Amino acid sequence: MPGDVTRFAPSPTGFLHLGHAHAALFAAAHAVNGRFLLRIEDIDQTRCRPEYTAAVFDDLAWLGLHWEQPVRQQSQHLEDYRQALGTLEQLGVLYPCFCTRADIVREVGDIHRAPHGPDGVLYPGTCRGLSRAEAQERLAAGLPYALRLDVQQAQQMSGGPLLWTDRRQGVQRAEPQIFGDVVLARKDTPTSYHLAVTVDDALQGVTLVTRGEDLRAATDVHRLLQALLDLPTPDYQFHGLLCGPDGKRLAKRDQAKTLRAMRAEGLTARDVHTLAGF
Ligand code: GLU
Repeated sequence: MPGDVTRFAPSPTGFLHLGHAHAALFAAAHAVNGRFLLRIEDIDQTRCRPEYTAAVFDDLAWLGLHWEQPVRQQSQHLEDYRQALGTLEQLGVLYPCFCTRADIVREVGDIHRAPHGPDGVLYPGTCRGLSRAEAQERLAAGLPYALRLDVQQAQQMSGGPLLWTDRRQGVQRAEPQIFGDVVLARKDTPTSYHLAVTVDDALQGVTLVTRGEDLRAATDVHRLLQALLDLPTPDYQFHGLLCGPDGKRLAKRDQAKTLRAMRAEGLTARDVHTLAGF
C-alpha cells in the first residue's frame, strides 16, 4: 500500500531549533513508503529572509532528511492564492475590513471581557455591515484593508456538518466559528496562513498534515476553506511541543538554541535525533 504524502513547512524567520527538528522528523517518519515534502512558508516578507531559507536546507540535510524537488516556496505562488480568493469572493463569503487594531479594541469595549477565540479577541464584525457602496468608496480611497471570511455565511454555504480525521483521536467536527471572521488576505498580501496552507496542501497532494498541537484548532478553519474551495480533506496528526529547561515551549523569539549552535558545539545529527525524541 502506498504511504502518505507529508510535509514539513517552516517559516524562514530565524534558524531552526530542536522543536523544528522534532516537527521535521515527525513528518518524515509518517511518510514511510510515501513522499516527504518541504515547503517554505515565506508569505510574511517583512520577517522572512533568504539566508534563513538557505539554512533550512542546510540544517535538514545535516539531519539526514531527504525531500522532493522542487521545494514549494509560497512567495512564488501568490497567483494560486489570488485565484482561491477570487472563488471565495464569487461565493460572497468575503468582505473588506478597514478596522485597525485600535478600532477593534474601541469597538469591543473591555478587551479582557470581550469574547476570545484561539487567536485572541474575536473580531466584532464592524465592517461586515458596511454597505457595498461604502466599502467601494473606502477601497477607491486607497485605505488599507483586510479581507475577512464571513464565517456564518460560509458555514451556511458549505452545507452540513464539516468533519475531519485526527489519526489518533478519530473523526472531529469542525467548529470554525470559534475563530470568528478570520483574515484571509490583506491589501498588499493576497493570502494568509490559513488560506495558503489549505491551498498548498491540496495542490501538493498532501494526504497527512502533521503539525504541532498549537495549530490543532486552526484545522477547523482549514476544513471550512476546503469545503468552500472544493478541495480534498487530508488526515491530520499532531505532535507535542518541545519545552526548554524553563518549561516553556521552544520558540525563535525566545532565542531557543539553534540546530547550528548545537552542531557548532560538536553534537552529531544522531544526538539531535535523540534530543528531538527520534
Ligand atoms: N509554517 C508554520 C510554522 O512555521 C507551520 C505550517 C503548518 O503546519 O501548517 O509554524
